[in-house]
Amino acid sequence: MPPKWCACENTRRGEEEGPVRRVLMVAIAVAALTGGCGGQDVPPSPRPSQTGATPAAGGVVSLTFDDGLERQEQMARELTERGMAGTFYVLSTRVQAPGYLDQTQLARLAQAGHEIGGHTRTHARLPTLHHDEQRREICGDRSALEAMGFTPRSFAFPFHAVNAAAEAVAEECGYNSARGRAGVAAETTPPGDPYDLNTPLAVGANATLPEIQQYVLAAEKRKGWAILVFHDYCDGCGPLGVKPTLFTAFLDWLKGQKIPVRTVGDVIGGETRPVPPVKAPSIVLNASLENYFGKEGIPDCWQLDGRSATATFGRVADARTGRWAGRIKVTGGDPARLRLAIRQDDGECAPTAGGLSVWYTATAPVRLTLSRRTRDGVWSDWSDGPVFPATSTWRRATWTPRLAGAAGISFGLVLTEPGQATFDDFAVR
Ligand SMILES: [Zn+2]
Repeated sequence: MPPKWCACENTRRGEEEGPVRRVLMVAIAVAALTGGCGGQDVPPSPRPSQTGATPAAGGVVSLTFDDGLERQEQMARELTERGMAGTFYVLSTRVQAPGYLDQTQLARLAQAGHEIGGHTRTHARLPTLHHDEQRREICGDRSALEAMGFTPRSFAFPFHAVNAAAEAVAEECGYNSARGRAGVAAETTPPGDPYDLNTPLAVGANATLPEIQQYVLAAEKRKGWAILVFHDYCDGCGPLGVKPTLFTAFLDWLKGQKIPVRTVGDVIGGETRPVPPVKAPSIVLNASLENYFGKEGIPDCWQLDGRSATATFGRVADARTGRWAGRIKVTGGDPARLRLAIRQDDGECAPTAGGLSVWYTATAPVRLTLSRRTRDGVWSDWSDGPVFPATSTWRRATWTPRLAGAAGISFGLVLTEPGQATFDDFAVR
């Protein structure tokens, strides 16, 4: 019978126990009582730490890469050339963005045996968010990656920012592990807490070869798990850019060591679990159009329909609140064709129904438009709402449409005549 990894057998890190850690230890103790770790006959629910991972007898190394930066493609190639596989934690909203790996590049990585894991939708600092928002960030990201054809099993907390609530959400969202705090201690095998995998500090521009080797040698000596964290790959592109010559020298050295290199998902093991649906937000996300991702410069959680040579969208610093507002400019054709509206999705962005409002200035009249998602997940055609007059000072357009039976809504505004409209601070209530 293969040895099983059991969270409850592990009692390390007593010195770090704060209130949060104690809550976690209680949770682990409860898991021990209910999960069969104490030798009970009750079959345990398959916690990933117990589902088939093989403890590495002499230690193990995982090479992990954060944020899906484009230059990591070369790092992946270096790994592949040496028969190694890495774990790439990517942000679903930045796939296709300038400087980031696109879907084709990520598919090539997966094809070559590298693991594609999740890292939230927007690189969110999770402990600062409410539960629903954490689920949108973690579960929503995971389902977006699945929609791109990947099967993410492993997650990494942005900024190494972890708390018990966020760990619980990573587990709820179907991940088998979550890479957590850095610079605390190297991880043990089995890990004390698969949803807070510990790592040394990220390997950055100032790293030296002996320093990185030391992480590996320490893991080998303690039969532990060295989870190394890399970001960028360059000479002098920033504090988190590892020098290519150093990276190559490290990999050449590592290849000559006995310690195996495995992806995080393979070390942890376990089945790929389903992603639960996320609860649609009751607010407009990115309502002030502050966050922009993607090659087209479209705000996160929004979609743009009908851009053309005569109808353009862009962000402008002419904001009512925050730094940015959105602006539509139409010089010809059908002005109503260009629409910026809440992204039509299953609830990661599309809110539940309510009264709608947006602040705007415009050189021509504007119209609110609306689409509804049915319970079956189908979006309706756009329907026209009320028209509001041109205005040179910020004015609020509001509309309370009938929304019976809508599981989600998307709304936006269009120009009714050529001209330009600037908008900011969307809301539902
Ligand atoms: Zn990151």
